Amino acid sequence: MSEPRDLRVPPARVVFSAEDRVRVLDLIDQSLRTGSLTLGPVGAAFEEAFAASHRAPHAIATSSGTSALEIALRSLGVTGEVIVPANTFFATAAAVIHAGARPRFADVERATLSLSAATIEAALTPASTAVVAVHIGGLISSEMDSIAQLCAAKGLVLIEDAAHAHGSTLGGRHAGSWGRAATFSFYPTKVVAGAEGGMILTGEAELAAEARIFRDQGKAGFHGGAHVRLGSAWRMSEVHAAVGLVHHGRLDAAVATRRRVAAFYHSELADLDGITGQAEPSGARSCHYKYVAFLEVGVDRERLRTVLREDHGVALSGEVYPRPLHHEPVFADVLHGGLPETEDVCARHVCLPVYSDMTDEEAGIVVSALRSALPRARQ
Ligand SMILES: *Cc1c(COP(=O)(O)O)cnc(C)c1O
Repeated sequence: MSEPRDLRVPPARVVFSAEDRVRVLDLIDQSLRTGSLTLGPVGAAFEEAFAASHRAPHAIATSSGTSALEIALRSLGVTGEVIVPANTFFATAAAVIHAGARPRFADVERATLSLSAATIEAALTPASTAVVAVHIGGLISSEMDSIAQLCAAKGLVLIEDAAHAHGSTLGGRHAGSWGRAATFSFYPTKVVAGAEGGMILTGEAELAAEARIFRDQGKAGFHGGAHVRLGSAWRMSEVHAAVGLVHHGRLDAAVATRRRVAAFYHSELADLDGITGQAEPSGARSCHYKYVAFLEVGVDRERLRTVLREDHGVALSGEVYPRPLHHEPVFADVLHGGLPETEDVCARHVCLPVYSDMTDEEAGIVVSALRSALPRARQ
């Protein structure tokens, strides 16, 4: 198998311009000079900028997207059973357990790979207390209004795991405007990278205050005070905040490039047999963390991946997700009522490479490679 450096189109690329690298180093230098290394002015500036770009009243920076989820769940006092999709990252379900609640997997809609009001309703039990909706690949499902209504009617707490959805909108509304809180991740592959880090957005001042207590060891205040909650070391360091703040400054341009590539893929895939690009419902504007495409029955995904990589130097990006969580040994006892759509979409989609500086030439190479590889990947 070829090494990543031999690839013409790698699976992902983290993009920091020379100018941005200097800006990051300047901010870190300031932190080192002042000795303000965590929960300082850079983190505060990042929170302010992220809240503004997502039109959210409050933002709380955290150590990771995983801790952001656990803090949100704990701050909302969620216990009992929490409905989550099974085609999500490990952390969505794990955070529920760490927060002292129990996940229950619900099925997803094929078109969006996300929960719908109907799939949630089918999974509800008398013990259900909350729902974590995940904006898979960056697409905010047009079901979000119905999901929010269902949650309001049933007294369920709605949280958005928006780790894929920086800058995404639906009807002009950003992630975070349906749930009581939305959580983001700044893991290196995400649309905004902070090396590590996470963010919670909320419209509720009290919830924001709770989250700030939880992220800093449950202390009533940064400079001391009693430990009033069972928090942890969930702070964002100033070093990470510097990386995230600078990268966040490129969010609009990154989304524009990703959307240009996605539009190109979408029109080119219309002419290819065996593969169909995921349609973006009207009103939705995905940040295209991923570009999802569905494979026809009979196209072997592993063979397609191998032919693309070995004969064309094209690496597909990671799926969302190839293995649903109910197949993970650690979640063997998580309950669900059958997940047929999840099983099928997990097995039969691919994610074409998209990055924030992808060139038209690179996107063209991907499409030509697919044109030649797809017939050879038939079973
Ligand atoms: C990346 C991711 C997370 C976790 O974020 P980390 O910053 O890696 O802890 C949670 N949920 C989803 C859907 C993710 O993709």
